[in-house]
Amino acid sequence: MGKALGHNSKSTRWNLLALGRLSEEEARLRLAEFRWGSSTEQVCPDCGQVDSHYVRRARKQWECKGCRFTFSVTTRTPLAYHKIDHRHILVALRLFEAHAKGEAALVMQRLFGGDYRTWFTLLHKIRDAFTRTVPLQKLSGLVEIDAGYFSGAIRSMRKRRYKKKSRQNRRAAIVMREKNDGKKEGAGRTVTIICRSENPKDIAALITMWVEPGSTIRTDDHPAYRSIPRILYKHEVVNHKVEFSSDTGVNENQCESFFSRMRRSQTGIYHRITRHYMIDYANEMVWHEEVRHMDTEARMRNLVRRVFNAGRSPDWSGYSHGHRRQKELLFAA
Ligand SMILES: [Zn+2]
Repeated sequence: MGKALGHNSKSTRWNLLALGRLSEEEARLRLAEFRWGSSTEQVCPDCGQVDSHYVRRARKQWECKGCRFTFSVTTRTPLAYHKIDHRHILVALRLFEAHAKGEAALVMQRLFGGDYRTWFTLLHKIRDAFTRTVPLQKLSGLVEIDAGYFSGAIRSMRKRRYKKKSRQNRRAAIVMREKNDGKKEGAGRTVTIICRSENPKDIAALITMWVEPGSTIRTDDHPAYRSIPRILYKHEVVNHKVEFSSDTGVNENQCESFFSRMRRSQTGIYHRITRHYMIDYANEMVWHEEVRHMDTEARMRNLVRRVFNAGRSPDWSGYSHGHRRQKELLFAA
């Protein structure tokens, strides 16, 4: 049997049973090590000083040697004021990391008890952190672009009377993937944006915003892509109706693989992805795609750093007190 991609069979550090044996204190220190990349030094969330700050053990906090600010491992992270202990946070992150098709709050509640909403908000805070920390560097080289429609799908003929309403909720996830030529197989960086539809105006704006001039863009023959500025980019077209991959090897496998992951997650795990949070689910799938070649240790490091460094979430802090995301995160040129 071949070794599964990206899983480190030798390491038992992240084995669920081993995690379950950690004390609450050990779990807290492991999160600290992963947040700050050191088991001895911390970064003050207020003034940024890196030091072995004073330990306030009884309060599970540190006090900054520079500005005297007291902070915990979750201060100014999306998980500040968490309702569950550090061991559960660690285990939840581990399950989130391991389940490439996504993690359902209901399953977490079944496994660990507690309130469904606690797990629901925790998982959403992780996804929302991805959305708020998308790296802003442009994509370059060979970039594949395609759109997939999610939310507001018409499931059966009987429901056709809801058609109009469903259409209103339908959104296009535009995905742009760098093709990683040469080195590892598959795609390099991926960016996904939600638009109302695959239309020329949004496509042209997105490309100028996200793709380095001089790059080659590969798309299907949808008319929206005729708006790609020819002076800046080389445009290659695959005609899906005629051929899956053209004779010259032009194809769109990377985008297809992203959409199939997202559809499997919708069908198998989340069941319903609403337009309000679609970008977060899409970014969750982007994360899974991007870390798939890493081992567990590296993924956990990546996950904790990314989530903890995202800062408090404007949409998810105080969710249980009625604070909600007011506007859909929709791109419109
Ligand atoms: Zn400080």
